[in-house]
Amino acid sequence: MYNPDKYHLEMGPIRPPNEGGAGSLLIRATRNCPWNRCTFCPFYREKKFQIRDVDDIKRDIDIVRKIVDMLEDGSDMSKVPYQSLYIVKGWYRGGQKTAFLQDSNSLIMPTNQLIEVLEYLVETFPSLERITSYARSDTIARKSIQELKRIREAGLTRLHVGLESGDEEVLKLVKKGVTPEQHVEGGKKAKEAGFELSEYIMPGLGGKELSKQHASNTAKVLNQIDPDYIRMRPLTIHPMTELYHLKESGRFKMTSPHERLEEIKLVVELLDVSSILCFDHFLNGWRGRDGQLLFDTSFTGYKLPDEQEYVLRLIEEGLKVPESKHFDPRMSRMISL
Ligand code: SF4
Repeated sequence: MYNPDKYHLEMGPIRPPNEGGAGSLLIRATRNCPWNRCTFCPFYREKKFQIRDVDDIKRDIDIVRKIVDMLEDGSDMSKVPYQSLYIVKGWYRGGQKTAFLQDSNSLIMPTNQLIEVLEYLVETFPSLERITSYARSDTIARKSIQELKRIREAGLTRLHVGLESGDEEVLKLVKKGVTPEQHVEGGKKAKEAGFELSEYIMPGLGGKELSKQHASNTAKVLNQIDPDYIRMRPLTIHPMTELYHLKESGRFKMTSPHERLEEIKLVVELLDVSSILCFDHFLNGWRGRDGQLLFDTSFTGYKLPDEQEYVLRLIEEGLKVPESKHFDPRMSRMISL
């Protein structure tokens, strides 16, 4: 008998942009965020964190397998819900190479359970070359190197970490729940265990008041970690957040497009890393004098230190353009992690 839920895949609300566009298979390993207190984040408000049952996650992997088999033998797909088909079809056509474990910190799963999921995923889809997940620095720091290495060996290849800032005051202000030292410890351990590491930083997060220390201490933390990727995610403030109320009451003053460029300039000047610096999000909408986007917003980014001077020249160019010509996150309610 037709069961409408038979092909239903559970999906979380977010994933990094480079895992999107159906390029990566999305497998929901946990639901929501175990921390859920960052004052700038609207994603999981009121939602309870849960670790999904390993059998339920495996059931989703089996459903993906069934849909792939149906695609291969040309079966009638009318009974497959649109969302499941969209995710699997795009990934299938893209060569089935990458997967992303949702939601916001799936590394928090008990190590053996996470390994069981990873092994099942790799066994079911041997074509997978990259499996990634979001992870909080304090979660990475709490796992032992041996545990992290086992997780890496089971198939998890890349961790996406929301560093946001390396400044203690800024981290406290936004209730990140992580200290600069934990960021460094988590980042270094991830690298030591063999993960590719993507660190997200948030220009503007210190507001006007803490802008300089936000920039210099963020560079300091990044220099100690030397991640594979540094990704810029400028701050926007969503009305459903605590930071919005601080802004409305005048206690948090957002930086302007030029002030943010100055902030990024200071970060880039101070960086001493061998990372790829990416502006891979539309919120990095600064313009050059020719009206074109200032930075390359593709996933290719800029290789540091080779292209450090070039990025600094781009920033100088952006500073010559009137602020009104740049995308201004003060006017936007969009947000991305
Ligand atoms: S920013 Fe990340 S850690 Fe903070 S509440 Fe949002 S999802 Fe959770």
